[in-house]
Amino acid sequence: MIKRDSFLSYGRQWIDEDDIATVVETLRSPFLTQGPKVAEFENAIANYVGAKYAVAFSNGTAALHGACYTAGISAGDEVITSPITFAATSNAVLYCGGTPVFADIDKKTYNLNSKEVRKRITNKTRAIIPVDFTGQPVDLDAFLEIAEKQNIVVIQDGAHSLGATYKGRKVGTQAHMTMFSFHPVKPITTGEGGVITTNSIHFAEKLRQFRSHGISKTPYSVEQGDWYYEMTDLGYNYRMNDIQAALGLSQLQKIDGFIKRRREIASIYTRTLKNIQGIILPEQLTDTESGWHLYMIQLDSSRLKKSRREIFNKMRELNIGVHVHYIPVYWHPYYQKLGYKKGICPIAENWYKQTMTLPIHPSMSDGDVNDVVEALKVVVR
Ligand SMILES: *Cc1c(COP(=O)(O)O)cnc(C)c1O
Repeated sequence: MIKRDSFLSYGRQWIDEDDIATVVETLRSPFLTQGPKVAEFENAIANYVGAKYAVAFSNGTAALHGACYTAGISAGDEVITSPITFAATSNAVLYCGGTPVFADIDKKTYNLNSKEVRKRITNKTRAIIPVDFTGQPVDLDAFLEIAEKQNIVVIQDGAHSLGATYKGRKVGTQAHMTMFSFHPVKPITTGEGGVITTNSIHFAEKLRQFRSHGISKTPYSVEQGDWYYEMTDLGYNYRMNDIQAALGLSQLQKIDGFIKRRREIASIYTRTLKNIQGIILPEQLTDTESGWHLYMIQLDSSRLKKSRREIFNKMRELNIGVHVHYIPVYWHPYYQKLGYKKGICPIAENWYKQTMTLPIHPSMSDGDVNDVVEALKVVVR
């Protein structure tokens, strides 16, 4: 069998000499944090997606926490989200004292199903957090329609979908708030980092205050003197620094190329795997263009002689870094202790049992892609 010489991870950053030079320049500047780079990066992100405001955070999880706080989530409030996401999505609700409510996914796109969300709405529902899982945007209009009727907020978890489009527009302007993550496996990286984009000045101001200890700079400063500030709410230190932002500015210049390459790799997988018995490929809605953060296949256990576990292990033996995204959030011991029962989202749970992530990232060569395809063909046979 064809074992690769080196391990091919499912995702990774692509850092070049320009990125390094930009960061070094900031290291030599007077500001390592709260200098000019963070605001520059925020403007660049807002311009890129077409939003009025962008508020950067130290990581995507902190940004989600900020969004939940800004949406007014507190004890007794329910927030509906997908079980097929990284735990940070629903953890952000818990940080605010709210209760995550999990609704099932759509069989074809693996994204939160708006019909299932409707069934979970109660008079305590305060927000919905749909997740653009794998980089394919959710059917946002369906969620906005529910939100309008209920007078609640939609926070889009776009950790996977910077650069993806929904109905011809980039993700990041249509929901009330959208979160993007800059973790190294995500579409672009700042090491750790995250942002909320929004068109609401009210939300943007609250987010800025929340990420910096709950301090507001404006009131009374003239009367009191220049040193004066007030802490008016309990915030956090969730700020992004200038080193991160400098890297982000450099990375953002290359995002179109990154996404183009991800789309090429996805189309090679789709073309070469579509006739293999027992492999179910991810479906794309016609009005979305995925950023292809992940390429997830399903291994149809009724048609394959091997289990997911066997196929996964064999692929790893061949140095192909397959992965599984994600364990249904409420299966985690912490959520089980909170009282969530297994079985509440049967489609998600069945999907999880047979899914597998194939490596996809812009620095993969055609040879790397071919290694994955050839290994998979041999392993599932
Ligand atoms: C990565 C990720 C997050 C959290 O972002 P961090 O920057 O790692 O804190 C949240 N939701 C999803 C779906 C993610 O993939």
